[in-house]
Amino acid sequence: MTLKVIGGGLAGCEAAWQAAERGIDVELYEMRPEKSTGAHRTGDLAELVCSNSLGSNLMGRAAGLLKAELRLLGSLLISCADASSVPAGGALAVDRQAFSDCILHKIESHPRIQLIRREITEIPESPAILATGPLTSPALSSALKALTDEDQLYFYDAIAPIVHRDSVDMAIAFRSNRYDRDDERDKGDYLNCPFTEEQYYKFREALLAAERIELRGFEAAIEDGVDAGREHYFQGCQPVEVIGRRGEKSLAFGPMRPVGLFDPHTGRRPFAVVQLRQDNIAGDLYNLVGFQTNLKFSEQARVFRMIPGLENATFERYGQMHRNTFIAAPVVLNDQYEFHRQPGLFAAGQLAGVEGYAGNIASGLVTGINAARQIRGEAPLGLPLTTMTGALLNYVAHADLRDYQPTKAMFGLLPKPEDGVRRSKRDRYAYYSERAIVDLKAYLGLG
Ligand SMILES: Cc1cc2nc3c(=O)[nH]c(=O)nc-3n(C[C@H](O)[C@H](O)[C@H](O)COP(=O)(O)OP(=O)(O)OC[C@H]3O[C@@H](n4cnc5c(N)ncnc54)[C@H](O)[C@@H]3O)c2cc1C
Repeated sequence: MTLKVIGGGLAGCEAAWQAAERGIDVELYEMRPEKSTGAHRTGDLAELVCSNSLGSNLMGRAAGLLKAELRLLGSLLISCADASSVPAGGALAVDRQAFSDCILHKIESHPRIQLIRREITEIPESPAILATGPLTSPALSSALKALTDEDQLYFYDAIAPIVHRDSVDMAIAFRSNRYDRDDERDKGDYLNCPFTEEQYYKFREALLAAERIELRGFEAAIEDGVDAGREHYFQGCQPVEVIGRRGEKSLAFGPMRPVGLFDPHTGRRPFAVVQLRQDNIAGDLYNLVGFQTNLKFSEQARVFRMIPGLENATFERYGQMHRNTFIAAPVVLNDQYEFHRQPGLFAAGQLAGVEGYAGNIASGLVTGINAARQIRGEAPLGLPLTTMTGALLNYVAHADLRDYQPTKAMFGLLPKPEDGVRRSKRDRYAYYSERAIVDLKAYLGLG
């Protein structure tokens, strides 16, 4: 029996791989490059549309724990991310092209996976996995309504611009990670564009006055916070101009916060900074961290060149904003992410309400394994709820619909320590991480 996986994104590629590794023949359908989504730029598998960072790699962080678990669970995508990583402090950031190439190579050379470049416009027969992501094509979105009673929710994402490294003026910008020691500073991974107080306020004023791409009435209402319970931005991807509107210093306390940075040119901490993070292995592209935006492209060129150090910046890509789609998993899907209305049809990834690159890889991994197990007549995985993977997927499947929105890995999803001992936040996170790894190893029989 052949398993159809629809969508060659993060969740779909991981799901296809996991099922194939368990002896199942898989047809993996990806509509790009024939038909694009508006945010993707290539026909590559698992293209990262916004940041090139998969989040923290540190064990004391929720995202770091999730990745450690995914390594133990044999994730294809995390192994490709590790193999294509670029320097990013404690985070796992990748060269997008090397990451996608690694996945394409593995998928194409797997004897049980057939990659088919075609848009799927109807709900496929079971067994199948829908992993078409937040930018599911309109035709398939319409078909999904029959399975979901229109319980589809929409929200908005924005992506950040990328500039060419050699167009950054290093007589103004400086290299440093936050909290670097004196001897480490010029070796830091980030390029920092420092602002004086006066430059900051001028920049904010220009940013707020700049022209944005027209939003339709319905979308504009959402942007202003109407119906905010159902419609929202991807967390951490709010447009910088929207953050700026909240208050005079909201940027200086948000994406432009200068904490832990010291400007070697002035000998002082800047009033605010824009950080640039390496975007490819060659190191010639840098993205503006936290600068997702919906300004018109010409306005981005004008306003972002007011950033000290970017006066002559050239842009590889401008920021953009897009509408996203996800379904109400707690009512539409069962615990295994299988549609109540069509047994053997699963949803995975952001379409199923999981948020974040690593979370969507986790969702694809578990759904791919469970689809394979179902085809083989085996019981589904029962990952311990003390693991981040188990807790995240369990939470999304049972979330309260009143304030439902895609959820990412966080320590708050894990059960409290059983021993009742009071711990500092840092110790508590270390405890959760250690417990998760011990429990996962025991579950997997890894001793
Ligand atoms: C603009 C934008 C910015 C984002 N920024 C971030 C970020 O910075 N960090 C983060 O963690 N997450 C971000 N996200 C969320 C991000 O999309 C997910 O974390 C992740 O990509 C979702 O994985 P997925 O596999 O569910 O979907 P995707 O990776 O989007 O994969 C879905 C795939 O399905 C294909 N497809 C769609 N419809 C069809 C069809 N009918 N037939 C065949 N193929 C189809 C698409 O072409 C795509 O390749 C962003 C999303 C968007 C839209």
